[in-house]
Amino acid sequence: MNFTEITALYDEYICGTYSRFPLAVERGKGARCTDVNGKEYIDFSAGIGVNSLGFSSDAWVEAVTGQAQKLNHVSNLYYTEPQALLAKKLCDKSGMKKVFFCNSGAEANEGAIKAARKYGIDRKGAQAYEIITLDKSFHGRTFGALSATAQPVFQEPFGPMLPGFVYAAPNDISDLKAKVSANTCAIMLESVQGESGVLNLNEAYLQAVAEICGEQDILLILDEVQTGIGRTGKFFSYMHFGLTPDIVSAAKGIGGGLPLGAVLFGEKAKDVLGPGTHGTTYGGNPIVCAGSLAVLEQMTDGFMLEVAEKGAAIAEQVSTMPHVTGVSGLGMMLGISVEGIDAPTVVSHCLEKGLIVLTAKEKVRFLPPLTITMEEIKTGLDIFESVLKEV
Ligand SMILES: *Cc1c(COP(=O)(O)O)cnc(C)c1O
Repeated sequence: MNFTEITALYDEYICGTYSRFPLAVERGKGARCTDVNGKEYIDFSAGIGVNSLGFSSDAWVEAVTGQAQKLNHVSNLYYTEPQALLAKKLCDKSGMKKVFFCNSGAEANEGAIKAARKYGIDRKGAQAYEIITLDKSFHGRTFGALSATAQPVFQEPFGPMLPGFVYAAPNDISDLKAKVSANTCAIMLESVQGESGVLNLNEAYLQAVAEICGEQDILLILDEVQTGIGRTGKFFSYMHFGLTPDIVSAAKGIGGGLPLGAVLFGEKAKDVLGPGTHGTTYGGNPIVCAGSLAVLEQMTDGFMLEVAEKGAAIAEQVSTMPHVTGVSGLGMMLGISVEGIDAPTVVSHCLEKGLIVLTAKEKVRFLPPLTITMEEIKTGLDIFESVLKEV
């Protein structure tokens, strides 16, 4: 099918929830892909941080196809080896103790919210279900995750939210202290707020939050859906700040392209969800877990260092380009502030010239596959610079 035929079917049959850019991707390898017209692109988006190893990497394809030929699915009434191995690997790499597998970031946060509420209610009483989240956060589109997402723009069309969420200003510890109460069961945050413009929380703030949590038996929940699995140059971003979270949600990059989410529990919270309290049909599917194992196989200390170095190199080069007024983020999760041109225009022009980039609110956002080479980075940045020079 050609581009027009494909988009005609979308227009007629697919729910209009996205404003899409004019690109229909046909195939890809690593940080390069080809559209249905045969035009090539460098990818600085990784499917919004999903394709950690790029498009269809050999290791991932081999793991997924090998598992698909052996066993596609059994229910969570039974056991499979890939799920067992993946849970162990996630705990080994993170210091967390137990894992619940699901299928997306929103679902991972739903699991985190349920566990936190149950922890509070079990320990402090029936009213102790309040969760503090931060303004400009993004935790997903389902009702619990949406209620946690302190952005009216996402919530307003849908009537009342789930009760029990209290919103605090990011990087403002006195505001947080004012909002903590005897009913607070958890504080949930992203160390770098991805969807809101790649906004970094500062280290002193994160450590102060952790301290409050520790003192008052409040669970610290890190939403690592975007920042996790090597994206920031550490396996999880909280490792940059010496934090020991009680619950971590992960998704996006964890599956390397297939839908997988995980809720990781630390010592305090690892037994909160007992038999019958939570569940999902697909979560921990063996094919998806096999693919994830291939992703985690890559996440060595040396690889993390390379991610950090590549991210720093990109940030440094971009910061000297025309229109650029600042670069935020961590590792290969970068937000680029531009002046005199708006981010969607930059994205469109880049696409025309064969570079896929994202926006995050008013910024241009880069989330390249973690395996991108320095040569591919150079090709991409040359395109990016030429776009900024022309406009
Ligand atoms: C993308 C994202 C989510 C939602 O993940 P889905 O898989 O789209 O449900 C949640 N939290 C953060 C920080 C995200 O970036």
